[in-house]
Amino acid sequence: MAIEICYEKDVDPSIIQGMKVAIIGYGSQGHAHALNLMDSGCDVRVGLREGSKSWATAEEAGLKVCTMDQAAEEANLIMMLVPDEIQPAVYKDHIEAHLHSGDTLGFGHGFNIHFGYIVPPADVNVIMCAPKGPGHIVRRQYTEGSGVPDLICVQQDATGNAWDIAKSYAWGVGGARTGIMLGTFAQETEEDLFGEQAVLCGGCVELVKAGFDTLVDAGYPPELAYFECYHELKMIVDLMYESGIGFMNYSISNTAEYGEYYAGPKVINDESRAAMKLILERIQNGEFAKEFVADCENDHKWLLEQRAKCDESLIEQTGKQIRSMFTWIKK
Ligand code: NAD
Ligand code: MG
Ligand code: MG
Repeated sequence: MAIEICYEKDVDPSIIQGMKVAIIGYGSQGHAHALNLMDSGCDVRVGLREGSKSWATAEEAGLKVCTMDQAAEEANLIMMLVPDEIQPAVYKDHIEAHLHSGDTLGFGHGFNIHFGYIVPPADVNVIMCAPKGPGHIVRRQYTEGSGVPDLICVQQDATGNAWDIAKSYAWGVGGARTGIMLGTFAQETEEDLFGEQAVLCGGCVELVKAGFDTLVDAGYPPELAYFECYHELKMIVDLMYESGIGFMNYSISNTAEYGEYYAGPKVINDESRAAMKLILERIQNGEFAKEFVADCENDHKWLLEQRAKCDESLIEQTGKQIRSMFTWIKK
């Protein structure tokens, strides 16, 4: 079933330009939404903790900055862009008391609404604008004149025009230049968690590591394994991204293309596909959310152990050394 997609011609920019917007948090997504909306002519304030390191950074970028309570009180559209695991406490302590009838509460990902960790009052709109890309690319593409596509969703339509507000917000962030998809909180939450786990982050990183380890274990130099299985991945993905798998195949040799058809299904085999299905089921039935929230409540013990292991791994150490020699890479 196809999803509805709308573009600049389908959006009324004056809606978001006429609202008072509060961006809560100034991290990856927060800085991108705040700056893009400001450059789109919107009235934006950023809500931060007193003493936050981002306070000066946001002000230097030309944004109004205030406490989260003040931002939420002033605004009639409040966008929650602090980390998912922090949102329930931030909502209780700084947002809930300032929600007035007809206000709009927004999210960049559906986790807390879909799994019920935040339950807003019935008389506010609950919308989502989830850019389908990392925050720093959301900002970079906006300044370059393009834009990361957004998925927008409405969980509660208290004012009767929540969809128009969501579309207009996504326009302000730059999404209408490429496409704004209309979906549901359930769809976004589940497909986003699945994508990052099975393909984009979990699957991709593990594939690269497994390829690197296979070569190194067989006696090949780590630097060579790094360039082959890690560095070159971006070139292949860029070709797919710009012109499709077919064009990527046209650009590589027949030998490589033959090897792709021969080896790909042996690596991503029935067992891998069954594992993906299981990952999706554990997202859909809420088991993943429970496990993640329990680790957050345990001060991220498991997450931090994995992060330390990854930092120490040979592939990361090799990569750090190799990239430090690139004259063209910026910090
Ligand atoms: P982040 O970790 O980059 O930013 C968090 C910001 O929140 C910090 O910079 C700080 O300003 C603030 N913050 C942190 N701890 C806080 C606390 N205890 N109290 C108050 N403020 C605090 O977050 P993010 O990755 O931009 O994620 C924000 C939302 O956007 C999440 O819902 C996430 O799922 C969603 N999202 C993120 C991306 C992405 O590219 N990172 C992509 C799509 C959706
Ligand atoms: Mg995502
Ligand atoms: Mg995500």
